[in-house]
Amino acid sequence: MLWDDFLNSEWREWRANGAVHDSLTDPEWVKKWLSDHRLSVYRPPNEDELAELKKLRSVLLQMVYILTAGSRLSSDAMNELNTAMAQGSMVRRLTETDEGYRLESAPLKHDWHQVLADIAASFAQTLVEGEISRIRVCDNPNCLWVYYDSTRNRSKRYCSDAACGNLMKVRRFRARQKENKSE
Ligand SMILES: [Zn+2]
Repeated sequence: MLWDDFLNSEWREWRANGAVHDSLTDPEWVKKWLSDHRLSVYRPPNEDELAELKKLRSVLLQMVYILTAGSRLSSDAMNELNTAMAQGSMVRRLTETDEGYRLESAPLKHDWHQVLADIAASFAQTLVEGEISRIRVCDNPNCLWVYYDSTRNRSKRYCSDAACGNLMKVRRFRARQKENKSE
């Protein structure tokens, strides 16, 4: 989804000490992320736009932590989302397909304000149509990757079982060994 990919632009060295990196300052990453989500902005963000993106990212991340703690979003938090969404506008268009008519919506502008609005809308859409209890943060404290758990039994604790899941298993094993030795 657009919003979790966006949040994970801030990523940590999950295998090591959790040092933080920011992909938003990497033009190649930004280009790929835009094209993966069919967002069309034809230039990298300028300084102000980058600051706005980072601000929205930290606001959204806080909302994720509030929701994963089982709390509800405050009206201030909802206002932040609404303000971000108000920065973009959509036009609607009726088209005809083999199955009948279809109503399409497309952005009116192709700029960074529209992107900010789209990110906020993608998060809002998950709150409306998805299951909030499936929004997760990876249990590896050095990773903290944000994801939507789409497993049937909602049991996904790590961003990836092969990566963080395995690493944490090894860490627990080593911690136990150490305990045994000191006994
Ligand atoms: Zn992880």
